[in-house]
Amino acid sequence: MPLSLQDLNPNEINDWCPGCGDMGILLSVKNALIGTNADIHKTVIVSGIGCSSKLPHFVNVNGIHTLHGRAIPFAEGIKLANPELTVIIDSGDGDTYGIGAGHFVSAGRRNTNIKLFVHDNGVYALTKGQASPTLPEKRKVKGIPEPNINGALNPLAMAIMAGYTFVARTQSYNVKEATDLMIRAIRHNGLAVVDILQGCPTYNPEFTNMEWFGQHTKPLPATYDAIVKDPSNVSEVNQKKLQALNTLLGETADNMSTGLFFQWENPDTFEDRLRARGIQPPANADIADQNGHSTVNMDKVLEDLAV
Ligand code: SF4
Ligand code: MG
Repeated sequence: MPLSLQDLNPNEINDWCPGCGDMGILLSVKNALIGTNADIHKTVIVSGIGCSSKLPHFVNVNGIHTLHGRAIPFAEGIKLANPELTVIIDSGDGDTYGIGAGHFVSAGRRNTNIKLFVHDNGVYALTKGQASPTLPEKRKVKGIPEPNINGALNPLAMAIMAGYTFVARTQSYNVKEATDLMIRAIRHNGLAVVDILQGCPTYNPEFTNMEWFGQHTKPLPATYDAIVKDPSNVSEVNQKKLQALNTLLGETADNMSTGLFFQWENPDTFEDRLRARGIQPPANADIADQNGHSTVNMDKVLEDLAV
């Protein structure tokens, strides 16, 4: 039977502020799971800490609400242990690009087949609205006494340089576009990030409302071709990366594009690299014979661990 909204959150509960963009993202995530006909028993949503990180509580799939900045290593571990699972991260900009920045960069070097949906509202909302790494310099939000003294990260340019193979941006009030990009990210074979500009009417009301997004974001032109056609053609891969970087670095905080910036179906995922070394996912390993007796050879395990 096809998956429905009713299967994913029968009680429709959440505890975000009225008008919070997390609600649009929640709906988009549920739409994307329906759109990919996800198996709810084989889907996991992982989060760190923050308002957005409550999302796994509101979707009826497997969920884990982990430590601040640590959603990526949890998600990688889950995927490597059982590659049959669809593993999605829903976490905030502070969580992913601040305390989790080292994991964000290192994940690009591996290209594990997991999906990051980053709720990007420019603030650490759960702790009362301090500036996050994506808040532009000189921008004043409620939780800081003076305009932001730090410059902003460009997370999508960072993602391309780190090795992410699917890089996109959308915004929380455009559920149609967000759903479409999430579906494409889930179907992509490799590491995907969708940065979602998110409304926070409580701590960043001026620069993250629906009207502001409507005036200051626009879809990438129809002629923009993000997808690498020949995955083994290094020069095409580099040309598409440069196109994305030029576009991203040419933007300002008041003039941003949404859509798919870069996609490369790189066949070399981290799962493939482990398989090539003969390492099998633990979830696929035989651990008992037909009589229920352990088949694990501890001598061999100890031998493998010897240095
Ligand atoms: Fe949403 Fe901001 Fe409220 Fe957090 S503080 S629930 S991000 S509106
Ligand atoms: Mg945030």
